[in-house]
Amino acid sequence: MTIILDGRKLNAEIVARLARQIKRLKHKPKLVIVQVGSVPESDKYIKRKKIFGEKIGAIVEHKKYPGNVLEQRLISEISKFNKSSSVHGIIVQLPLPKHLQNILGLIAEEKRVDGGKYFRPATAKGVLALLDKYRIKITGKKAVVVGRSELVGKPIALALLEREATVTICHKQTKDLKRETKQAEILVVAAGSPELITKNHVSRDQIVIDVGINILGNEKLVGDVDFKNVSKKVRAISPVPGGVGPMTVASLFQNLLEAYELQT
Ligand code: NAD
Repeated sequence: MTIILDGRKLNAEIVARLARQIKRLKHKPKLVIVQVGSVPESDKYIKRKKIFGEKIGAIVEHKKYPGNVLEQRLISEISKFNKSSSVHGIIVQLPLPKHLQNILGLIAEEKRVDGGKYFRPATAKGVLALLDKYRIKITGKKAVVVGRSELVGKPIALALLEREATVTICHKQTKDLKRETKQAEILVVAAGSPELITKNHVSRDQIVIDVGINILGNEKLVGDVDFKNVSKKVRAISPVPGGVGPMTVASLFQNLLEAYELQT
């Protein structure tokens, strides 16, 4: 029987744990989400973060700015949040318009809860949490990560490397993707390409983590892995939806709580 790596279940456990921890704190941890313009997917992700925050008793402040907002205005807003002692975490919901790419670097390190000096990017942290929950050993394993983006692929690869896996990173220029992916003991896919990984890319006994979130024309949500066929072959697999997605949100708020502790 294939093991389904259930991110929703673990998310619920983290909700309960964080809620208990926050109850004991003097103040409520506060996350500011900066959104510029409006992409329907971003609205959806922000909503999920607000719901999670509410469940655990954290404050989530959603700051929305028009797509043509001046860089100077955003710089002064971020600086205000950086200085505010009631704000413990700041994230900028991506994508950002081109003229504002530099503002990500302005967030104070101790409040940069989606990566940076103190915190592991939420998706990478979520992938590790899912593997740990199911007691999947990482040390010494051959891990293959498909995708090398700054916020997703690279941090996942680095996280696995830090946990002593032997890591291969694949990307669009990789010559023979199937050959690489088949050799993995742990395969993590973050390519943003619907059902890129078929049963011919995997081998038995593999652990497959699907990070992809792709919304098809008919509104159907699919990952980067052909779940139906791959799940028949491998040892364990995370579904989409219900796998890494819920873990990413939970990990972000774990980082927020750590940020609170760092600052108080
Ligand atoms: P991106 O477009 O920035 O990067 C995609 C990477 O995949 C690139 O490095 C590219 O070279 C590689 N790639 C694309 N097609 C490939 C192919 N055919 N063969 C080999 N490599 C290929 O995307 P991203 O921001 O890294 O996001 C990746 C996916 O993860 C997206 O579907 C995104 O929605 C999803 N995502 C999920 C979560 C979550 O919580 N589950 C969080 C963030 C992003």
